[in-house]
Amino acid sequence: MRAVKAEGGWGVVCTDTISIHPSSDTTPFPQVRLWEAADEPPLRALTDAINEHGALAGAELVHGGWAVANRYTREPLLSPIDMPSRRDPIQARAMDKSDIKAYRQWHRRAALRAKTVGFDIIYAYAADDLELLQFFLSRRHNQRTDEYGGSLENRTRLLREVIEDTKDAVGGTCAVVVRLAIDDLSGSDGMLGQAEGRDIVAMLAELPDAWDVKVSGWPEDSQTSRFAKEGYQEPYARYIKRVTTKPVIGVGRFTSPDTMVSQVKRGILDLIGAARPSIADPFLPRKIDEGRTEDIRECIGCNICVASQNVGAPIHCTQNPTVGEEYKRGWHPERYRPATSTDAVLIVGAGPAGLECAQALGNRGYQVHLAEATRDLGGRVLRESRLSGLGEWARVRDWRVGQLNKMSNVSIYRESRLIADDAIEMAAPTVVVATGARWRRDGFGRNSQKAAEIADDARIFTPDDVMDGARVEGAIVVFDDDDYYMGGVIAETLVQRGAKSVALVTSGALVSAWTANTLEQQKIQRRLLELDIDIITHQNLAAIRKGELELSCIFTGRHRAMPASCVVLVTARVPEAVLYDELRARGDAGAAGEIKTLARIGDANTPGIIATAVFQGRRFAEEFDLPDDGRPRVEIEPVDTRDIDRYGSRHALRTIYSGRP
Ligand code: ADP
Ligand code: SF4
Repeated sequence: MRAVKAEGGWGVVCTDTISIHPSSDTTPFPQVRLWEAADEPPLRALTDAINEHGALAGAELVHGGWAVANRYTREPLLSPIDMPSRRDPIQARAMDKSDIKAYRQWHRRAALRAKTVGFDIIYAYAADDLELLQFFLSRRHNQRTDEYGGSLENRTRLLREVIEDTKDAVGGTCAVVVRLAIDDLSGSDGMLGQAEGRDIVAMLAELPDAWDVKVSGWPEDSQTSRFAKEGYQEPYARYIKRVTTKPVIGVGRFTSPDTMVSQVKRGILDLIGAARPSIADPFLPRKIDEGRTEDIRECIGCNICVASQNVGAPIHCTQNPTVGEEYKRGWHPERYRPATSTDAVLIVGAGPAGLECAQALGNRGYQVHLAEATRDLGGRVLRESRLSGLGEWARVRDWRVGQLNKMSNVSIYRESRLIADDAIEMAAPTVVVATGARWRRDGFGRNSQKAAEIADDARIFTPDDVMDGARVEGAIVVFDDDDYYMGGVIAETLVQRGAKSVALVTSGALVSAWTANTLEQQKIQRRLLELDIDIITHQNLAAIRKGELELSCIFTGRHRAMPASCVVLVTARVPEAVLYDELRARGDAGAAGEIKTLARIGDANTPGIIATAVFQGRRFAEEFDLPDDGRPRVEIEPVDTRDIDRYGSRHALRTIYSGRP
């Protein structure tokens, strides 16, 4: 994964944070570590792969303090002061002088290991509201009365010592960079506050080889496009270059070369940092270099990549279906396996699944016919991008349509709603059905797993109706049993369209609960409350009558009624499967003409998130002409049993995908 970024032209490719010691254990979340010699070989392979493409490798060394729970190692938690763990009902102990000494030694040892395995840049990391060094800097989290607490100078002491230790250990060979949270955006009560962030840099100005600055915590740093636009960290980073002559690196979900150049020219940053933009397009720098900026696959700011981490999964990305599949399936974001025949492929439906499938098959060299019922391409991303805050999601369509427009082997038929006869008439041996899904109208959902009693004269709407511009008025109730973004977005959109009374009823404890994984939940709930949207939790749907909704408490089953002139049901979706089912039936009856392969992908297959639709589109294009040798595409094989003893089965399984050509 990181070698592909190096190949794509990034000057430095950093790891995710690397734990320096077993007392910083993030089990069950993915974790890179440098605890002992056994951790070195995979990182050596990593630095070799990065260096091979001419990029430098950077190691972000961290200790999680009280932000971890050490669930695997069961080591005691450490903190500047006695402090409850952020994750579990256990506490961290206030570090005494011997703990501080030991911590410095662990950091130094990890820096030496990082140098040994070939890293070019070693970080001292004090950011994300997840790191011990930042907790020492913080007024709120460091109330020590010794020389490591109190004044800013005292609170900065440990960071200074760690920079000096690291320079002493690896300086001269490796650059030593500080990643610093310059503001945690909690106002005067805040951990740092802009003034303190700048003062810390001023105090240590020339000590490290470069400064890498950002806001904290993680939800503020990695904001989604619903809440922050490109370059949103500029107001916080703009003071830093005035107090140091060392290079300053910063982030801000940069995807536009103009914004990047502008920040450099205006003296805000010297170097552009990017995590999400490099996930969405590992080849972003090379495309700029080659003057192909229109080919950049811009991050849409949805944070599905972040959610992967938060649910303990390998990385997924909405825009780049190949990320995390380089090493599992042999996919590459820019290279495609050549077609194995000159056959035509008909794809029905130009949503994210159909568009991705078409662009990948087109790039492979197939003759592709893409039929879309409507005039506009994009399916759900186009429709959803018109809802409040989701404008950037249209980039999923824009990039793919831009690529398709360059291909002479892809024909696009707009305003072509195909029925089975049309599809058969087109005589393509392969037909891929990507016709999407529609929202249910019966109240069946994630928790309410049966249809509600709905009176004939009740005014019922779905998100599809709202996206189509239906008039939803009066006392509106949005019933959300989907738990992701749609319920909250619909409520917000209705208020923006002028609705005066909107309530959001959810079966969950929180609005849009799954968005905790995308770091948005608190922001969403705050926004809805600020818009005076009534939030009612823990309720299932019992019945909808004219002007009234009947709810049942998920704990007690007790019923209650509330006024509702219009109800928007955000519950679940059903695949748009008519075409697929009909073609399938014709095939079974031997009447499917030339069609030899019939498949369904995306929401027509399994309604879900956009990332899944894009992935399924790509997967079909990558795999459909592989020989069917009966082998599973996924194999799991155990590695060295010593690893099983040492780390437990989670670390001891290596996943090998055999779908590689
Ligand atoms: P996905 O997320 O799986 O790509 P979408 O709902 O975004 O699904 O896109 C499905 C697309 O398929 C929509 O643009 C819709 O207009 C189109 N579509 C649905 N049925 C047909 C059909 N019979 N013929 C052509 N296009 C269709
Ligand atoms: Fe950007 Fe979304 Fe991809 Fe993350 S998952 S890199 S936010 S497009």
